[in-house]
Amino acid sequence: MFSHITAAAVCLSRRTENSADNRTTTGRAQEGTSALGNTNSNLNRKTDVVIAGGGLAACIVALRLAELGHHIAIVEAGEQICGNHTWSFHRTDLEPGDYARLQPLIAHEWSGQKVVFPRFARSLTTPYASITSDALRQAVYDCEKIRTHENAKVEEIRAGGVVLDGGVEIDAPCVIDGRGFAPDDGLKLGFQKFVGVEVELGRPHGEDVPTIMDAAVDQKDGYRFFYVLPLSPTRVLIEDTRYSDDGSLDFEALHSDVLAYAANRGWVVKQLKRTEKGILPIALAHDVLAFWDRVPLHSAPIGLRAALFHPTTGYSLPIAVETANLIAGLGRPLTTAAVRKAIYAYALNRNQEQAFYRFLNRMLFRAATPRKRYLVLQRFYRLPQSLIQRFYAGRIRPTDKLRIIAGKPPVPIQKAVRCVSETRALAGK
Ligand SMILES: Cc1cc2nc3c(=O)[nH]c(=O)nc-3n(C[C@H](O)[C@H](O)[C@H](O)COP(=O)(O)OP(=O)(O)OC[C@H]3O[C@@H](n4cnc5c(N)ncnc54)[C@H](O)[C@@H]3O)c2cc1C
Repeated sequence: MFSHITAAAVCLSRRTENSADNRTTTGRAQEGTSALGNTNSNLNRKTDVVIAGGGLAACIVALRLAELGHHIAIVEAGEQICGNHTWSFHRTDLEPGDYARLQPLIAHEWSGQKVVFPRFARSLTTPYASITSDALRQAVYDCEKIRTHENAKVEEIRAGGVVLDGGVEIDAPCVIDGRGFAPDDGLKLGFQKFVGVEVELGRPHGEDVPTIMDAAVDQKDGYRFFYVLPLSPTRVLIEDTRYSDDGSLDFEALHSDVLAYAANRGWVVKQLKRTEKGILPIALAHDVLAFWDRVPLHSAPIGLRAALFHPTTGYSLPIAVETANLIAGLGRPLTTAAVRKAIYAYALNRNQEQAFYRFLNRMLFRAATPRKRYLVLQRFYRLPQSLIQRFYAGRIRPTDKLRIIAGKPPVPIQKAVRCVSETRALAGK
């Protein structure tokens, strides 16, 4: 059987010969061209699978399906598929085979990680890794079974295909919707928001593993911590992160807070290399049945479009990998109905498993006062490493739940009790 690692490795070896062959910019009519766009000669109007949106989930799924021989079209509204991110994950979030498949895309790997709180600091031996948008994008471009259409907005998903801005249609028996997050009444959220700045320092920073949370900082705008990824001895990505009720982001303020943090650590910034920002959903309550009632029958959502993300971190790379495996397991030919059914069953199952996470999130957002939210995490990080690993991997056991909530809660007990009911939270109480 082909594996992702094989496909990606093959694609990477073809990179120099063929890096842009599979790209077209077909969507919008340009002056002096037809409504099909000026590079339409490359457009296949019929394919096996068409994916609306070329983000993380779409690209991971497309690479996996390409290994099995499916032809895939990805239609991305933005200038490029994959955006501009560093996607990180704990090695224990993935099954070993899946980790091996992702290996060619991994830009950084670390043998451990640490956390810092006002009362204690801890080193963990859980390996951590990052893939970059560049690596994922290149793997997709290099894959001859995948055709990408960038600057091409999907106007409509209809039965058996998609309609692009400008009227071009692409037909496929399997239509997947990977257009990212869409608000839904059945999903009550808090936010993890951040600004990240990648900087080159004048001298080595001396960090050899990521700091997942440095919460020994002024607590403002909710639970606040700095996330620090050492990318080379002198290069570091620093993110000012807040678990906030408010989904708006003051980019300038957080950007200067990042630079102040660097200065405070004694790091002299020689050059600003890159910035990134995010406002990620943190699930407080989810009415999964109502959510799916609103998903049109003629499309199969994946990724954030299907509300598939880790409820407490808002991250979704490991879930995208699981989704890709799930769809790959359906065999050939693929149909929208088969993929939709499989994702629906998966989402229902996950939703049940994640009820406890949403309860913890409600404790964090609703029971703890914003400046005291760090106490919840400070307490959590005293638990056994294996439990913490299972928590991030979304695989906690009943005994883990007991351990997490045992003892005196770090929030007022009356408020904690009010967080128990998800129905109450869905009603906005
Ligand atoms: C700065 C940043 C850092 C992050 N770091 C991590 C991390 O370390 N680990 C992790 O697991 N997660 C991380 N995340 C979260 C992760 O990026 C998201 O969970 C993930 O991208 C969701 O994948 P998706 O494919 O569902 O949606 P997206 O990646 O958002 O992709 C949706 C795509 O659809 C396109 N689109 C939307 N509408 C249309 C349309 N009408 N027609 C065509 N295309 C359309 C969009 O342009 C976009 O490219 C980070 C997010 C950000 C912003």
